[in-house]
Amino acid sequence: MAGAGAPAAPRPARPGFDVIVVGAGIMGSCTAHAAASRGSRVLLLERFDLLHPLGSSHGDSRIIRDAYAQPRYLRMVRLARRLWAAAEAEAGYRVLTPTPHLSMGPRACAALAAAVANDGAEEVRDDLGSRWGGAFAFTVPDPSDGWVTALSDHGGVLSATKAVAMFQSLAVAKGAVVRDNTEVVGIEKAPEGGVVVKASGGEAYHGSKCVVTVGAWAAKLLGSVSGVDLPITPLHTLHLYWRVRPGKEQSLSASAGFPTFSSYGDPPVYGTPSLEVPGLIKISCDGGPPCDPDARDWLAGDAEVTDRVARWIQEAMPGHVDAAGGPVVRQSCMCAMTPDADFVVDFLGGELGRDVVVGVGFSGHGFKMGPAVGRILAEMAIDGDSQTAAEAGVDLGFFRIGRFDGNPMGNAKKD
Ligand SMILES: Cc1cc2nc3c(=O)[nH]c(=O)nc-3n(C[C@H](O)[C@H](O)[C@H](O)COP(=O)(O)OP(=O)(O)OC[C@H]3O[C@@H](n4cnc5c(N)ncnc54)[C@H](O)[C@@H]3O)c2cc1C
Repeated sequence: MAGAGAPAAPRPARPGFDVIVVGAGIMGSCTAHAAASRGSRVLLLERFDLLHPLGSSHGDSRIIRDAYAQPRYLRMVRLARRLWAAAEAEAGYRVLTPTPHLSMGPRACAALAAAVANDGAEEVRDDLGSRWGGAFAFTVPDPSDGWVTALSDHGGVLSATKAVAMFQSLAVAKGAVVRDNTEVVGIEKAPEGGVVVKASGGEAYHGSKCVVTVGAWAAKLLGSVSGVDLPITPLHTLHLYWRVRPGKEQSLSASAGFPTFSSYGDPPVYGTPSLEVPGLIKISCDGGPPCDPDARDWLAGDAEVTDRVARWIQEAMPGHVDAAGGPVVRQSCMCAMTPDADFVVDFLGGELGRDVVVGVGFSGHGFKMGPAVGRILAEMAIDGDSQTAAEAGVDLGFFRIGRFDGNPMGNAKKD
């Protein structure tokens, strides 16, 4: 018997998983479901409690929109929509509320023009002020005024935490094993083939393949297990909910057809209809200061972001949303940013080769893609390639780790 204070003897690896998924946010939960649906023996490991609010996938809402400038994301979101619908049918309840989507911003913005064109959005030529009870203070858009507003049917709101829980439940129903409060600290090549995944409590699990979906912890974990230096920066970002002015609740509601929206100007603001909390509406802003996911300040930059959004509301929606009182609810979140805002979906390489698949760096726009990313990661682990991506026309070449070799900005140079 080891004496007090002696290091615990390493426990032997437990046999028996085809795919071990590390990290149970939306990406890991969708991957576990997709792999288990293929009949694989799946283990899903999560460092904190399931559905915790410390990463990127918690909260009441995320936007799903087809308005993307790059065709790779348009194709991926269309694939994801089919898979969201299939998962809802399997679960027997809904997590996606369809809405229109409104894009707006400076006419000279190339990304906006491409997103509007790819989305098939119609430019709004009547008085925007006559829609949704005059919620937006913009007047008749004159094509020469340097400003574009365009509307499509391709928006929607995803109930975020509910959706993660749905995929976890579906994965368990297909036989996946889930272990929360289990922090992975090591991923090593197993002498008998496959990998051994080691947790901080001394547990060791053997898997044929491992999929790493650890969100904002990606650079830390992958750096320590493989020495790969991924340029992923965690940002501290905010969900902000504001009070709808009395009497305006119905015009801003999802049931009245109020859209999800993105404003491409400065600041880059987005919003969802009043839905999850009656009388409140979510309007937030992209970006935030870099943070250490293990030593967060929780308030850094909040006043500045809140002020920028409040000023936007006062200009764009003054009659419908009370900005002067400040946000009624603010919830912290993290975005795992790559330099080009493109995802990282690849084999890890190095000594771990194709035994470890990585799905990280979703750069503040990954949630909507969860079921598509999960299916792709599961196929890469099980088949060594993704037929689903190929059939959907999603070129995984854009998501390779190697794009940063000698090129710190990755795809930002190509687009
Ligand atoms: C404020 C905000 C608004 C957003 N809005 C939208 C939107 O409208 N539409 C959209 O599509 N996307 C949006 N996103 C982005 C989207 O939420 C993220 O891209 C997505 O949730 C990323 O999921 P993930 O599974 O990669 O990361 P996470 O949800 O963070 O999951 C990673 C998990 O790994 C776990 N983990 C970490 N390290 C370990 C370890 N060593 N061992 C075991 N487990 C570990 C973590 O605890 C965590 O649970 C938004 C993000 C934010 C922050």
